[in-house]
Amino acid sequence: MDGYIKQWNDLILNCSFNNTYKMVWSKALVELSLNFSDNNDEEIETIAFDFNEIGELCLKYYWNQTIYFDLDQSPNLKKPPEMITYTKELIKEFFFRRGNVQPIRFEKVDFNSLKMEHNYESTIKNIAKTIGQDVCWRFKKLNGNNYEIYDLDINRGKVFFSRHNVLQLKEHSDFLFTIINYRWTQILEGFNYSPRISRKVRAIDENNIKRVSLKKFHKHLDLMFEDGQRKCFYCSEIIDDTDVSIDHVIPWSYMFSDDLWNLVYCHKEENSKKYNRLPSEEDIVRLENRNILLLQRMENKSREYDQLQIAVEKDYLKKFWTSFKG
Ligand SMILES: [Zn+2]
Repeated sequence: MDGYIKQWNDLILNCSFNNTYKMVWSKALVELSLNFSDNNDEEIETIAFDFNEIGELCLKYYWNQTIYFDLDQSPNLKKPPEMITYTKELIKEFFFRRGNVQPIRFEKVDFNSLKMEHNYESTIKNIAKTIGQDVCWRFKKLNGNNYEIYDLDINRGKVFFSRHNVLQLKEHSDFLFTIINYRWTQILEGFNYSPRISRKVRAIDENNIKRVSLKKFHKHLDLMFEDGQRKCFYCSEIIDDTDVSIDHVIPWSYMFSDDLWNLVYCHKEENSKKYNRLPSEEDIVRLENRNILLLQRMENKSREYDQLQIAVEKDYLKKFWTSFKG
């Protein structure tokens, strides 16, 4: 491994577990190196990145991890990292202006059309400030040594690389992204109780975190309603066909999968208000009973039957719910 990349490797894999600032910082630098083209003027020997452009990428990573998966980025839940507080405030305002809590990728949000330019700009400014105070210089330190992998001008909010080193980052970007995600996953696993963290961390790099259609579950869920009248799991009222939605009782953001044992019918409106909310123990008990009954009514020769049977036998619902509560 090239000596320069070896230093990055050591810094990433040995950084502390306090929070994930070093992950967003290093990931943003590697991502920015991708924009640098070797065809540029050969005279340019120093390349500068601005804390504001780095801050935009940090916000992108934190936005996507938070809005889809609600992952905690630090073990101290009472005092979350500043960058997370700024990100959550922006998401909260975004939900408020849009009038619903459907998650959407950062890259697809149009802050201008929501009249949120000001909120956006002040969020970036705050994140850039935290980068200067807390992150940029700290990332270079390990066991009392300072790794000279870049130069800083904190007052002007800039980080400087030699041309050679930026090209190194770019050339080894796949490797660096992989170890950053690996370390990020390790850190998150220290204080998040949700399953599939590694998949969630990788998913934010892909352009397709999407919820697939749940239509295929209708035929199974309908077995619970012999008269064809679907009832809402939460309020027990009959649901009009136009008002039917399928809900993940343990939130999708937590499970990151669609499982029959966790799905129920409910009114659309109740579903759209329910953002990452924990179900009550009473709901869990009712769902356990529903699952036992549903299993009895299903044909025992389908994949869904097998999966539901395993879930009931192994008590998945209670186990996931208990670990979700932490
Ligand atoms: Zn209802």
